[in-house]
Amino acid sequence: MNFGTKFVHAGAEPDPSTGAIMTPIFQTSTFVQESPGVNKGYEYARSQNPTRTALEKALAIIENGKYALAFSSGVAATDSVIKLLKSGDEVIAGNDMYGGTYRLFTKVFEKFGIKFHYVDMRDTNNIRSFINSNTKLIWAETPTNPLMNITDIAALSSIAKAHHLLLVVDNTFASPYLQNPLDLGADIVMHSSTKYLAGHSDVIQGCLVLSDAELREKLFLIQKSCGAVPGPMDCFLTLRGIKTLHLRMQRHCENGEKIATWLRNNEKVAKVYWPGFEEHPNHTIAKKQMRGYGGMISFELKNDSAEEVKRVLSNTHFFALAESLGGVESLINHPATMTHASIPREERIKNGLTDSLIRLSVGIEDANDLIKDLKHAIG
Ligand SMILES: *Cc1c(COP(=O)(O)O)cnc(C)c1O
Repeated sequence: MNFGTKFVHAGAEPDPSTGAIMTPIFQTSTFVQESPGVNKGYEYARSQNPTRTALEKALAIIENGKYALAFSSGVAATDSVIKLLKSGDEVIAGNDMYGGTYRLFTKVFEKFGIKFHYVDMRDTNNIRSFINSNTKLIWAETPTNPLMNITDIAALSSIAKAHHLLLVVDNTFASPYLQNPLDLGADIVMHSSTKYLAGHSDVIQGCLVLSDAELREKLFLIQKSCGAVPGPMDCFLTLRGIKTLHLRMQRHCENGEKIATWLRNNEKVAKVYWPGFEEHPNHTIAKKQMRGYGGMISFELKNDSAEEVKRVLSNTHFFALAESLGGVESLINHPATMTHASIPREERIKNGLTDSLIRLSVGIEDANDLIKDLKHAIG
């Protein structure tokens, strides 16, 4: 199957009982058995649900994996991965990543004796000195949220393989349209499906995609034991979103390039973070491992006073001031006080996330309207 066909047809089989072309929303908690243990593969909806099965098949196909597991949120998917570990184990994670992942690691899992090292992964060699006999897992995000840093997934994978570590890549920002980490050697791909996969800002969901059967069994056990499963309606919405992922991403990328370029040429803008620029420090890696550069952009103003940043954030019309990203509509966000507020200020600033950074999720509207909107707000 070629790229576009895959997103439309992945996991889609007409419903065997009715021929319905869309997988029905199986709104049921349990499934009737013929006699004890004799059933049609479904017993209780925490373990399996046919709408979820259709979604999981689609997710596996679009990420070039063998198996997928859908969760009730992105952080629930992350939570299940870390539950593979035990007290005393160590994780190497990026020093720039989604604030909620950082919060889960520091506020929840550290209490259980798991140790996390936060490392600048723009140069993958930086992780070497943190590897010891307790190291079990590498958690990477690329492009990172919100600084758009790029990590070389293939290089990370060769280090991971040499030391028998699991490599997990949060592929939320790129989406499977732009990048497939499993093809580059990652063991598990994680998504906040809430974002580009579902794509319409109407669902909270997450997933894991992988190819190792044994690892799939371990994660499935955690999923059904801990219970962070998505409802069938949400699975339906994500499944529907995936059917247009390639069309939406194409426009996100086109608009992203136009807006990043416009910002770069604006005299009031000091710095633009977007991996499509040749001057982006890891542009060559981005070019090698991604099919495009997406619609996520961060920038800083020359006048970085708190008042000016607040003024710009409050003066857009089409760019709605809100957390989240990856929906059809454009969003503007202030990471320091919104999505990344759970990272201590000192830690944040040390890693380059300033108080004045503004993040855009460029939607699929007409780029001219979006540029007009930013022109009006930035002045
Ligand atoms: C939003 C997000 C998450 C968390 O996902 P939820 O669906 O909000 O739980 C994880 N990683 C990244 C990069 C995100 O943007």
